[in-house]
Amino acid sequence: MKKTSVSDSRFVTALAEQASQSAIAAPATLTSLKALLLTYLPEEQVSSINSAYDYAFHAHDGQFRRTGHAYITHPLAVAQILAEMRMDHSTIMAALLHDVIEDSRIAKSTLGSRFGEPVAEIVDGVSKLSTIFQSRAEAQAENFQKMALAMAKDIRVIMVKLADRLHNMRTIGVMSDEQRRRIARETLDYYAPIANRLGMNAVKVEFEELGFHALYPLRADRIGRAVAKIRGNRKALLEDIATSIQASLNREGIAATVQSREKHLFSIYRKMKSQHKSFKDIMDMFGFRVVVEQEDACYRTLGIVHSLYKPVAGRFKDYIAIPKVNGYQSLHTTLFGMHGIPIEVQIRTKQMDQVAEYGIAGHWLYKAEEDPMQGNRRTRQWLKDLLDLQRRAGNPLEFIENLKVDLFPDEVYVFTPKGDIMSLVRGSSAVDFAYSVHTDVGNQCVACRIDRTLAPLSQQLQSGQSVEIITSAEARPQPDWLTFVVTSKARAGIRHALKSQLQTESIALGRKLLNQSLRHAQTSINDLDFRRLRRVFKEFGVKKLNELLSAIGNGALMSYVVAQHLLAADNPDYEAVPVEHAGPMALGGGEGLVINYSRCCGPVPGDAIVGHMTPGKGFVVHTETCRNMAEIRRRTPREIIPARWTKTTEGEFLTNLRIEVTHKKGVIAEIALAITDADAGLERINVEERNAQLSSIVVVTSVMNRDHLAKVMRRVRSVADVVSINRISV
Ligand code: MN
Repeated sequence: MKKTSVSDSRFVTALAEQASQSAIAAPATLTSLKALLLTYLPEEQVSSINSAYDYAFHAHDGQFRRTGHAYITHPLAVAQILAEMRMDHSTIMAALLHDVIEDSRIAKSTLGSRFGEPVAEIVDGVSKLSTIFQSRAEAQAENFQKMALAMAKDIRVIMVKLADRLHNMRTIGVMSDEQRRRIARETLDYYAPIANRLGMNAVKVEFEELGFHALYPLRADRIGRAVAKIRGNRKALLEDIATSIQASLNREGIAATVQSREKHLFSIYRKMKSQHKSFKDIMDMFGFRVVVEQEDACYRTLGIVHSLYKPVAGRFKDYIAIPKVNGYQSLHTTLFGMHGIPIEVQIRTKQMDQVAEYGIAGHWLYKAEEDPMQGNRRTRQWLKDLLDLQRRAGNPLEFIENLKVDLFPDEVYVFTPKGDIMSLVRGSSAVDFAYSVHTDVGNQCVACRIDRTLAPLSQQLQSGQSVEIITSAEARPQPDWLTFVVTSKARAGIRHALKSQLQTESIALGRKLLNQSLRHAQTSINDLDFRRLRRVFKEFGVKKLNELLSAIGNGALMSYVVAQHLLAADNPDYEAVPVEHAGPMALGGGEGLVINYSRCCGPVPGDAIVGHMTPGKGFVVHTETCRNMAEIRRRTPREIIPARWTKTTEGEFLTNLRIEVTHKKGVIAEIALAITDADAGLERINVEERNAQLSSIVVVTSVMNRDHLAKVMRRVRSVADVVSINRISV
């Protein structure tokens, strides 16, 4: 960070002095505010505003601002700014109360019961926005704007926040150098663009001018003095031009006000920087604004100024027919003035002028409605109007895309525990969030807290929620996550992790199987010298031991075949004694991806089981009696691996039942109920007609073991129309 240079310090002192002046730090009193409010609000609303003031006054009692003024002067000033925009009474009350949640730890619910939900919602929204504004990464600027707008379903929240920042900027001189620069930069980066998006030009310009002075006091002073000097020199000339335009309009019977326009320091500075123009080039242009009553008068005025001065070709813009994306409407034209100095003229109606200066607030101001509680409705109407304008004009809807007050169709914005903002595709779950934070976070996530409450990983996220992922180093992605994730990063991450998990598990299983096969020859993988056994690797088309083990584990190679080759290579005198599997594989469920329980026979703990290796699937478990096993026994008897259940098993196992029923309405529902009543899972039900009287229902159910399955079958048998029930292979 740059230090304040010696030349800056003089201006910094001036800024601080200015900030502490009561006219700036405490511009409003309760009396002046009430007088202003009574010009547009009914008395009973002003009296509720009065009680909000009393409440804020006590809440901030004993607190002071850096300017030395009592704290209440700040919310009063904020309320004053909003009253000047003719905001409704809820907004003004919220403005007075806007710091009580943050600074005086008063609960939102307290405000709600005392001043009503709308006021409490606005105050709460403003407090939440403050936390967003504290997340400062510049790369987040765009997200930030969207987030701010997305969260503020009620646009009055943004209005209060902007007014709050406006008053803070007016008194920024009292802050430390570092704070001053940070706040000024934030104002230029975030607040001015938001004001601009909302079409609030006056507020935008004030943010920019205050921000510029606070960030670059010396540069602002230099440009300011140069502008003042030019203004002095040109005063007479500008008045001449204004008078001649005014006179021509009067002759044609058009009521209009003609004003010369000031160039703002920050916009001059920005043009000098971005367009590499000299100060003289930028200033060598006069600007005028003509404000008329009716839209058709705009076009007539255009004709008149074009007859007065010669227009510059290609500089005419009709923003009335095709409004700017933030709703701005005006005619722009450039003329050759006296001595060839170009004159820029903007022509618009009073209403267009209000909207240009105050944007969304301009609509409040202009359409003084009877019921000020309708603020939100009006906001929506305003947005709708904008949409209509855009549609008519056929413009890209860029602005609307960024402004839809609570309806971003494609994205949600959530907070990380550090307060950063993350944008995700709509429909994203906590798992998507975890993967977008980091692949490792995704791979290791086990649970999540949404708004500090435990929630399912599959829950869809909403804008404004805070999301915290709980990880565990041992955790692995679950295959079923693929059924609900929506981001490609999560999908790719899960697939990749499952693949490498499969790889790891295949290696482990392959090691186990190979060792079992080697045990017959009283040896093991560790006893063999694999440096001498490289050629065996070649025979099987692998390069490393792990590849060999993985191929065994996933069923591509048979362990007894590999074992025999290894033993023969290890000892040329080795006589090929049959290598069998030593002892059955113990299975307990939950082994992971390389042990598969066959869907055909649906083995459950308690069944007699066997396994065999299937390429790509690994170890597949069947019941002893499965008819598919009969075929395998006949063809490749040596590839069958004995298996048994461990004492305790975990999880549920799928199995198939065939149920014959007589036709009756509702019988399927009764069967489904019987199954779930027995605490079994219901995976699938298929109904096949047998004949006019009977139907055959095939059910895939999940149970813990044989005893559980027997209980399920008993329950189903007790359903009146069930004729028979049998376990089947499919
Ligand atoms: Mn404040």
